[in-house]
Amino acid sequence: MRKGYMRVIACMLVLILAFSLTGCGKDKTENEKKKTTTEATTEATTEAITTTEATTEPEPTVDEDGFTIVKQTVKTTDYVNVRLSPSTDGDIYQQLANDVEVERIGYNEEWSKVVIDGNTCYIFSENLTVVSDEKDEEETEEGTTEKDPTTGQTSTGDGKIIVIDAGHQATPNTDEEPVGPGSSEMKAKSSAGNTGVSTGIAEYELNLEIALQLETELTARGYEVKMIRTSNEVDMSNAARAEYANNLDAAAFIRIHTNGSTDSSASGCMTVCQTDENPYNSDIYSACKTLATDVVNGLSAATGAKSEGVWETDSMSGINWSKVPVTIVEVGYMTNPDEEALLVTSEYQVKIAKGIADGIDKFLTEGESVTE
Ligand SMILES: [Zn+2]
Repeated sequence: MRKGYMRVIACMLVLILAFSLTGCGKDKTENEKKKTTTEATTEATTEAITTTEATTEPEPTVDEDGFTIVKQTVKTTDYVNVRLSPSTDGDIYQQLANDVEVERIGYNEEWSKVVIDGNTCYIFSENLTVVSDEKDEEETEEGTTEKDPTTGQTSTGDGKIIVIDAGHQATPNTDEEPVGPGSSEMKAKSSAGNTGVSTGIAEYELNLEIALQLETELTARGYEVKMIRTSNEVDMSNAARAEYANNLDAAAFIRIHTNGSTDSSASGCMTVCQTDENPYNSDIYSACKTLATDVVNGLSAATGAKSEGVWETDSMSGINWSKVPVTIVEVGYMTNPDEEALLVTSEYQVKIAKGIADGIDKFLTEGESVTE
């Protein structure tokens, strides 16, 4: 009996031992399993992230014309033709100067689809460079206040954009364009200018010299100056020049010209703007008249030249196409030998630049409150 009892105890011990061994084994297996499961879960998460990233990546979607859809700001890297269809045979809607920003909505192998004044047009992609994608638009739109690098103070210009057009070009373009948006009246794209009666200098050359002086003066005053041209070898119509200023939403568009007359005694400076009945942009007549008045007064004061005042006319394409305050500045007569002798000197050109800049300062600080 005692022997049997001992056997039972021994059996129980064996069983207990066996159980505990099995238990250990089971535990180990479960731990391993758990570890494996955790690893597997991590892998799955990584996979999920990768999948999400792949979905966010902008799939190149193509529009009905086969153009890859984008939303970018691009700018011209040359004088370009803006066409109504993506072909060199396409009608030209307008021309743009170098460095003009436009909105690009698509591209194919050769052409970019852009939107200008709400119209879909095409520019050869080789002449464009990307300024910003939609994603960094917010950063680029933040304005900065320009400070005078010498004084560290905010200057009058305050970064406002002034577009300067040196009138005419080396080779006139006798092709015609509408004198204003939608007009059936046509006018040469770029006429030949006047010629200096003594020196023989061409108006396009003299205008550029003065325009460059004005660029220096306005830049020093803190304006952001954009030049329609810095070379004589360009081909840009008067309407295209106005569109350049429109696209930049310029605070003022200043067109530099030098006058001519069959009367060699005619002298002095004048500015030009539209009439208050202009069919294209009479809405900005008041601003243009103020700008023109301020500029001719500033110019006359700085140079001592007689002021011929403001000439109002609706015959100037570059004014009619403008949507921003614009004036033509006739800085003097190159058909008057005495005045021409002054006009070709850099000393007098600096005075002209200062006078025009004074007028722009006044216009942009005092607005349309001019008293004549
Ligand atoms: Zn001219």
